[in-house]
Amino acid sequence: MREALTYDDVLLVPQYSDIRSREEVDLSTRLGPMIDLSLPIIASPMDTVTGEETALVVGKHGGTAVIHRYNTIEEQTKIVSSILAKTKLLTKVGGAVGVSDDYLERASALFCAGASFICVDVAHGHSILMKEALTKLRNSLPENFHIMAGNVATLEGFNDLADWGADSIRCNIGGGSICTTRIQTGHGVPGLETIFQCAKSDRNAKIIADGGIKNAGDIVKALAAGADAVMLGSLLAGTTESPGRMFKSTDGTLRKEYRGMASAEAQIAWRGKVGSLEGVAHSIPYRGPLKDILDELEKGIRSGLSYSGARSINELQTKAQWIRQSAASQVESTAHIRNK
Ligand code: IMP
Repeated sequence: MREALTYDDVLLVPQYSDIRSREEVDLSTRLGPMIDLSLPIIASPMDTVTGEETALVVGKHGGTAVIHRYNTIEEQTKIVSSILAKTKLLTKVGGAVGVSDDYLERASALFCAGASFICVDVAHGHSILMKEALTKLRNSLPENFHIMAGNVATLEGFNDLADWGADSIRCNIGGGSICTTRIQTGHGVPGLETIFQCAKSDRNAKIIADGGIKNAGDIVKALAAGADAVMLGSLLAGTTESPGRMFKSTDGTLRKEYRGMASAEAQIAWRGKVGSLEGVAHSIPYRGPLKDILDELEKGIRSGLSYSGARSINELQTKAQWIRQSAASQVESTAHIRNK
């Protein structure tokens, strides 16, 4: 049986660096002709991660965000329009659509509202429903309008979605911090392995590493493995701007709600009933303004590239040298004084 690794199983080997300052490192990435990002971070289409405030701050920082689809078309497009008015159209923002019901109408409304892209957002993207939806969307939207789609776990899935019309593809099934897909269904592929596999594709679609990214080091690993950008949920959820409810826990600390979109709580809130249960609702410590979190992540990513002697994401992908770490090394890799 094939063995597959994920983020904590591997490390990047430090290499000679002629970089004098982290400012020399360029983190820009191009998802499409109209979607140039200076920070390769996309906020996930989740109701406790991305609302108007999150999208504004991530956009200002050079990344982008996707507004979730569990709302009316009017509510979703209003958020998109409000962001674009407030930022003189400078912010890149996308809107999620599904593969059934109102998705064609929603996609066209998002396009008319000025969204930079749509994201066809389903749990198992390598499916006939996705094929039909992408075909119809491609035929109904302007040719150069960017379509992000997913999620997929395999190279075959990646290539098919690219052939069906996706310009960028969310890669990883079952790796999200709030996800129970692998437990509920027995299916999934370790997140970093999916990136390694999809990076073998000869299609032009961009790779979005989505789910299971816990820190700046994981972002660097995802980019080095071949991702063009990462999509983040939990890393952005505990912030001032995230829409999740804030509350004081019994020990007096502030926490914020973070929930999977397939959790019972999210399904009841948006659909009034529970279908397949593949996520959990949880809370995480409140971590202050999103700007500070993004600053910290950006510093870590810049530093990460410099450890590989790389000035750009492309250079990182060419130079990356990987090593597998043992269980003892995984402990050594953390601030292990805290275990004492
Ligand atoms: P995180 O960054 O590890 O917290 O993962 C966020 C990602 O998990 C999202 O971008 C989605 O791809 C995925 N996701 C969101 N909600 C659910 C869910 O309820 N079940 C499974 N995966 C989910």
